[in-house]
Amino acid sequence: MSRVLIIGAGGVGRVVAHKCAQLPDVFSDICLASRTQSKCDQIASELNCPIQTAALNADEVGQTVNLIKRFRPDLVINVALPYQDLSIMDACLEADVDYLDTANYEPPDEARFEYKWQWAYQEKFKKAGRMALLGSGFDPGVTNVFCAYAQKHLFDEIEQVDILDCNAGDHGYPFATNFNPEINIREVTSIGRYWEEGAWKETPPLSVKRDFDFPEVGVRRAYLMYHEELESLALHLKGLKRIRFWMTFGESYLTHLRVLENVGMTGIKPVEFQGQQIVPLQFLKALLPDPASLGPRTKGKTCIGCLVEGRKDAKRRRVFIYNVCDHQACYEEVKSQAVSYTTGVPAMIGAKQILSGQWRKPGVFNMEQLDPDPFMTDLNACGLPWNVLEMPVEEAES
Ligand code: NDP
Repeated sequence: MSRVLIIGAGGVGRVVAHKCAQLPDVFSDICLASRTQSKCDQIASELNCPIQTAALNADEVGQTVNLIKRFRPDLVINVALPYQDLSIMDACLEADVDYLDTANYEPPDEARFEYKWQWAYQEKFKKAGRMALLGSGFDPGVTNVFCAYAQKHLFDEIEQVDILDCNAGDHGYPFATNFNPEINIREVTSIGRYWEEGAWKETPPLSVKRDFDFPEVGVRRAYLMYHEELESLALHLKGLKRIRFWMTFGESYLTHLRVLENVGMTGIKPVEFQGQQIVPLQFLKALLPDPASLGPRTKGKTCIGCLVEGRKDAKRRRVFIYNVCDHQACYEEVKSQAVSYTTGVPAMIGAKQILSGQWRKPGVFNMEQLDPDPFMTDLNACGLPWNVLEMPVEEAES
């Protein structure tokens, strides 16, 4: 029986609240807090059990500390935006409570996707006897756990990992993002990077592409991108020679993105407009559909997984460990599309591992540093079943 404070009432926050409320034996008391309290109240009204709600600006450490002292949670689940990570971690240390998030800290004025700011909290959390679990979404999150599972059970040595993220869902809009547009567009327009033989290699944004045949989805074109879990996995997977991340995009999405970029609408530096400073990307976000509104319109499936290659019993082996999720089934269950669902369910499962004591230890951790087994069991039990597909090694491409 544990008390949990969820911060952020967007697409992911809705799923976390629904999934925690489905397990009252684990999450006996829930408080959902966000900048706009009416969004928390709306989500609360969808649940079968009563939860508390609160207005909170999590940029203000003092406000979060006060709320934690009032509600007394055992764990804070941060599903606000990456900009709030450090201030919520500070509040957790000050109010003496464990912490979990789904995305690494980003400075608002620079798209960096680096763990260095959060890894710098290692000693503080250790000293306080508190745990911070970083990146407990799908990617990062489940993909890290898939790698840990492959390392523990399927391989003696992992040499290559390709993380493949396919969203084959169709929302019917010419251009919309499936999670926070600002974070999504910052990520997609960044320089591509992958890790090989101990060094980071860079590619121009979305310049390297490949077709993959995704189970239950079919062939889709995927583009090489930098993604934050590459940093921790390159560090923690022993013997690794190369790790890359690929995401699929449709033609319409890419054409719109190209035009928006060319006219400067994806910029994150403020520009002056009629005597006012505006950030183009923030203005664009105001025009685009709210990702939370895509739920009822999105049809199709997501398929996200890790293509892992290496050696087992002195033989080469190649497997694809993956989950397939159906947008409409997710909407029926929790009133959110699959991108929010695949992030919110692992946040709840990570929280469950900490609260049950299976994963809990002092310090700052990435997902692959913890035992994958209880998490993999819960994925099957909580709506994200996974498969391991044995792949022919001779078909391996570079
Ligand atoms: P949304 O934009 O839909 O929701 C964000 C929520 O955070 C909103 O309710 C917003 O409030 C609230 N918020 C923003 N600033 C503050 C603040 N200062 N204090 C309190 N609340 C605040 O985003 P998503 O739900 O799509 O994404 C949530 C997180 O999940 C993001 O960090 C995203 O990067 C991460 N993510 C991770 C993935 C993974 O696989 N690991 C995949 C997808 C997302 P308001 O409504 O008032 O603006």
